[in-house]
Amino acid sequence: MINLFSRKCLGMAALASICFLFSCTQNALTGKKQLTMIPEAEVQSLASSQYKDFIKTHAAVNPKTNANAAMVNRVGVNITKAVNRFYASNKKSAVLNGYQWEYNLVNDNAVNAWCMPGGKIVVYSGLLPVTINENALAVVMGHEVSHALLQHGNQRMSGSMLQQLGGMTLSVALSKKPSETQDIFMQAYGIGTEVGMMLPFSRKHELEADRYGLIWAAMAGYDPSEALAFWDRMEKASGGQQVPEFLRTHPSDAIRKEKIKSYLPEALGYRGK
Ligand SMILES: [Zn+2]
Repeated sequence: MINLFSRKCLGMAALASICFLFSCTQNALTGKKQLTMIPEAEVQSLASSQYKDFIKTHAAVNPKTNANAAMVNRVGVNITKAVNRFYASNKKSAVLNGYQWEYNLVNDNAVNAWCMPGGKIVVYSGLLPVTINENALAVVMGHEVSHALLQHGNQRMSGSMLQQLGGMTLSVALSKKPSETQDIFMQAYGIGTEVGMMLPFSRKHELEADRYGLIWAAMAGYDPSEALAFWDRMEKASGGQQVPEFLRTHPSDAIRKEKIKSYLPEALGYRGK
């Protein structure tokens, strides 16, 4: 399946005409126009029910008795406090009103992590042998939180709904085509680990999530430069086997590391803020 908005041929002119026909919004973080046909509150409500279903079938590890789960919780708290501070200092706290952050480690060998709209973050235990340390975990969790804040999933879901359901509203789609709508949601947000279930994020979205993720990690008191060593480990760990969300995309590891190097001075400027 092709994400409508990952096609390079769809230029700004086409986006402008789509924005004329459908509702486009401005992202609070980037200030850029984006096609998010689905009101964020509706996406968050759907995310909340999908998250409850997910947690029912993937028992979360107890942070009181497990050091790794406690680490995921600690990094989640630190990262999201940083995000809250950033939005507050830019007088944009209202954007985060619907967010109820939760951080869970689940026992699953997949090298994966995600953050749903509304702030439900899940780290799979299979990621931890690659992150190895708390700095790298902060880089990955910061990256996933950024996808949610940048509304990348909403943009993907809007594109898929336009393409597959003719731009039906979410509430109509959920009542008329519930399973198709849920599949679109799962694909757009990278939930689930079955091969073919996830759409790769575009190169632009990946790099944007990298850039902001490094800022959150730095603000949260972690060393964002660990991202470079993490990507070296990820390259070795993937070995063409199970490919996580953050690898199934256009930026090659080499390009990605170069970009991360160029983002680091900006991120390090946010340390202690
Ligand atoms: Zn990503």
